[in-house]
Order: sequence, then C-alpha cells, then structure tokens
Amino acid sequence: MKSFLIIISLLSLISCASSKMSSSKIALPIVNVDIKVGEVAKVDYLYADYDEDAFFVCKWGKFPAYYEDGKYHAYIIESYFSNLESYKCSLELSKVDLGTVLSVSVYDRPFPIEQLHVNPKRVYLSKKDQMRVRNEQAMLNAIYSDSASAPLFSEGFDLPMNSYITSHYGVKRVFNGKKKGQHLGTDFRARVGLPIPTANNGRIVYSGDLFYTGKTVIVDHGVNIFTVYGHMSKLGSELGEYVPKGAILGLSGATGRVSGPHLHWGVKILGHYIDGASMVRESKAIGEK
Ligand SMILES: [Zn+2]
Repeated sequence: MKSFLIIISLLSLISCASSKMSSSKIALPIVNVDIKVGEVAKVDYLYADYDEDAFFVCKWGKFPAYYEDGKYHAYIIESYFSNLESYKCSLELSKVDLGTVLSVSVYDRPFPIEQLHVNPKRVYLSKKDQMRVRNEQAMLNAIYSDSASAPLFSEGFDLPMNSYITSHYGVKRVFNGKKKGQHLGTDFRARVGLPIPTANNGRIVYSGDLFYTGKTVIVDHGVNIFTVYGHMSKLGSELGEYVPKGAILGLSGATGRVSGPHLHWGVKILGHYIDGASMVRESKAIGEK
C-alpha cells in the first residue's frame, strides 16, 4: 500500500494567515486513499497541531485519529455491504472541523460462494435460541461500543495461525442447501487443542460461550479495533486482562456453529467486520512510513 502522506508547508500557512484573505478557512491538502470493499486502509495525515480528541469523519462513521510523529493516523474501513460510492473524509479536532482532508476511492472485489452443512438447529433457530442470539447481540454491541481511546499496540498485526485457510473473508455461504449468509471472518485449519495466540497487544473484553462462534475470546486493541477468536475448546484468558501480542488466549476446537474443528478469526473496526488479511498488510507499514 502506498503511503498517503502530504507535507503541509508551515510557511505557506503563515503567509496565508497574514495576507488578508476573504475566506477565514484555509483549505488543507487532500490525500487520496484507495480502499477495497471489506478492507481497512491506514491513513497518515501530516498536521502541525496535536489534539487528543481527533477523528476522521467518513462514510462509515467517525474513526478515532491518534497523533504520532506530527501526523494523525487512523484505520478507516469500507464495509462489506458497500454501495461502491467514493467519498470524502474530514478531520475533526475538539474545537475545529478542518474540512475535507481525504478523498477515498472505493474498489469492488469478487467474493466466491460456498456450500456448508452444519447442525440444522444452528440454522433454523428455536424460539429459545432466537432469544439467546438476541441477548448475545445486545451484549456484544455494548462491548464493541467501548474501546480504549488510544491504540494498545505499537507493532503490526499478525495472523493468529499460519495454517491453511479453509474459508476466506467475504465468501457467500449457503447453509444446508438453503439459508444464505456471508462469512465475515477467516477460518484457519486447526485440530482440537492447538494454542491460539492474540494477533496483537490488547485487552480481553470478552471470554465466554456464544451461540454461533462457541467458546470465544474478544480482544480490544484500542481506537475501535477488535479481534475475535471463535470455536475454541478451552478458554485461557481472564476478562479485563492486558495481553501482549502472541499471548495464548485458549485452545482451538469445534464449539458453536461449525462443520468441523477450526479457528474463526474476525477483525471488527467501528462496528464492521473487515478482512483480517488487510489489517495485517496495512498495520505492517507501522514504522516504515
Ligand atoms: Zn469462520
């Protein structure tokens, strides 16, 4: 991924401010960003003033921007459910809206279809299970709405396993020949009992049993970035615990809605599941820009 970096000339800003311009607002340079459906793009925007309360305001919401080396950084996403429209993002500081700073071009990508056969009780839900899923959803929404305001990581994200990927992000799924859905995570081949590490530093915000993903751990990495590890046979981390990258969260398994043992890995940013491979790629650029 190219580095989207523009240097603002302080001198030009000063000369603009001192000349009597009719407009009080100085247009800032606009950085072009390319993004694919269901992916994340890391953006860096050079700006002289630090503000602890900064956001890139884009089509999919307000992305917390953190300040490092004279630049605002953020991980912005394009939802899987994209309308493919390109858009602009503004940079909002606590006391001032700086206007448009990013111009985002959206690109489509193909997602194949796969057929899956699972326990029918996890496809056509009983009243009791419907209630359980609704309750879990409400609890998860509360968890995903509360992230550390600064990043808890300083290095790039790693894939949690190097094993064969049995199902990629975004495939369209047909369950038991009928019910349609989409797979918004990555499935890694894993026999029962393999240690599963966290993809990056973070804090455990959920460790428990969910209807669809079975025994599951959710890690908050800050700035609204979460990773999810599902279908585990054993949970090994404490709620609230800070974990360094590579720390073992539990053991792989086949709990929840599965057709066999594997690890389901999800990456959720600002309420949207995105392709974990793009998170690994984009975050690797840390320190190289
Ligand atoms: Zn999965």
